[in-house]
Amino acid sequence: MTANSNGSVCLDCGMCCNGTFLDYAAVTGEEATVLEPLGLPVKVIDGLGLRIQLPCRKFDGCCTIYADRPAVCRNFQCRLLKSLDKRRIEAGYALQRIQLLKALKAELQQVIPDQKEKSYFREVRDFVLDIEKGSPEYRREHAKTLMIGTRFMNLINEDFFHMQDDADDRTESVSP
Ligand code: SF4
Ligand code: SF4
Repeated sequence: MTANSNGSVCLDCGMCCNGTFLDYAAVTGEEATVLEPLGLPVKVIDGLGLRIQLPCRKFDGCCTIYADRPAVCRNFQCRLLKSLDKRRIEAGYALQRIQLLKALKAELQQVIPDQKEKSYFREVRDFVLDIEKGSPEYRREHAKTLMIGTRFMNLINEDFFHMQDDADDRTESVSP
């Protein structure tokens, strides 16, 4: 969650904290010494370094350690927020996209449980790949989930965060 002038839309969203797109967020060693005593564990992930796991333990509808959140959270802007900052879109449009994403996620969760071991995006992507590899009968049975899952992933890629195959944290998308 960011703190720019358009950050109020984040209060209706929280998708970058709750594990919808990403598995981890990068932190520094210095930040780890602040976060761990606050009850937010920092792990060393092979090949990535220090990370907090998402969904973030300190997300409870909003950030509960807002003043102490790490730089990656202060600086992160999804595509929607960047467009809002550059006045390419209005706040009303951003809120509509957030509500749509929430609605698609809620519908998918009735079929694809959020195990919280990987981002929900990955959960949906793996389920969709499974449907696509299935028999014609299986694909027919899951046609609605395939359609909603594809819409969910496209919406994330277009409006929120471009998911590369191995994207698992916010590092590459943090604004300079
Ligand atoms: S995904 Fe974007 S709009 Fe949503 S909380 Fe994160 S930065 Fe804000
Ligand atoms: S520390 Fe706060 S802003 Fe950062 S991921 Fe956790 S809840 Fe979100």
